[in-house]
Amino acid sequence: MLDWKTFKERFPMIAYALSNAKSTGRMSHAYLLASSNPNYRVEFPILLAALRVCLRPAPDGGPCMDCRECRNILTGLYPDFYLLAPTSKAREIVIGKDSGEPDTLRWFEAQFHLSSVSESGWKIGVIQEADTMNESAQNAFLKTLEEPPGKCLFILTTGRPSSLLPTIRSRCQLLSLTDNRCEYNFPRCADVPPLLSALALPPKASLMQAENCACALIEIAASLSTAARTAADEKWAPRLEAARELEAAGVKLIERRIEGEAGSEYRRSREQFISLIHTWFAQLVLMASGLDNMLFPNPEILPDAATVRENVSGEKAQRMLAAAEELLAAMRTNVNDELALRTFCLSVNSILAKN
Ligand SMILES: [Zn+2]
Repeated sequence: MLDWKTFKERFPMIAYALSNAKSTGRMSHAYLLASSNPNYRVEFPILLAALRVCLRPAPDGGPCMDCRECRNILTGLYPDFYLLAPTSKAREIVIGKDSGEPDTLRWFEAQFHLSSVSESGWKIGVIQEADTMNESAQNAFLKTLEEPPGKCLFILTTGRPSSLLPTIRSRCQLLSLTDNRCEYNFPRCADVPPLLSALALPPKASLMQAENCACALIEIAASLSTAARTAADEKWAPRLEAARELEAAGVKLIERRIEGEAGSEYRRSREQFISLIHTWFAQLVLMASGLDNMLFPNPEILPDAATVRENVSGEKAQRMLAAAEELLAAMRTNVNDELALRTFCLSVNSILAKN
């Protein structure tokens, strides 16, 4: 089970925004949790519910997970917690005939018009896989979202936010827990985002600039293999030393180990290198289209927002992302790295140059 601490480590900005909203009394009455990770869709609503009902928030503003209300939420004993999920057969949430028909929207909604029996007074409604509500159910629920009953928190989850009616989406605060968050830790990874900024965000396109960026990226890519080999060598050095004094067979074995580890470390860091470039441009698109930056999976590699607004339109960012996707495909199919990176930098530069 995801706890608040882990959640905060994985999504620091979202956790901060939410706990801040709680302590300033500005939590939304409805959240739409979009995530490709099905575990997050199940676990996160519990945390959010705990945040809502906690009687003694922790110093950081998060739920204490220990007061009576928190524990009731965690153990499933909270009396005003209602879950609506697609029923197993049809995988669909229907509107239903009346409030007496369980697992239907009418049943669910009726719960929020009864008086609360919990200490905190809050009622929590979770709609799992909200995109499985059919259109009439979505339309019916829209009315509740527009005029929510008092002291209610609705949490909708989905893996396919685009399948929800835009009117539903716009009445919920979107929380996007993206699974593609990556902890970049290959050698010189901190050098890459500034290089990408220099490539994609200068006020004027310049071939020289593009070429400089290409050279620097090529150098970083090329250094990954050496760095992986050095790390494996260093790690195994004492064992290798010891084996040399004993027997040749052991040495062979360790050398093969080193070879294997260096290879897998190289593949890992190279994959991260490619992924960082791709994520940077994916986030650029979101930024250029004005999306709230609390939703970004990797806020630590965001370019400067003001520079983005001044120099890159949403459409250009979109085309740059397409170029990054081509780079990703090329590098994964073992096209020569140098060629792939140079081609990429030149295409970003030419996108930038166009009016
Ligand atoms: Zn608590």
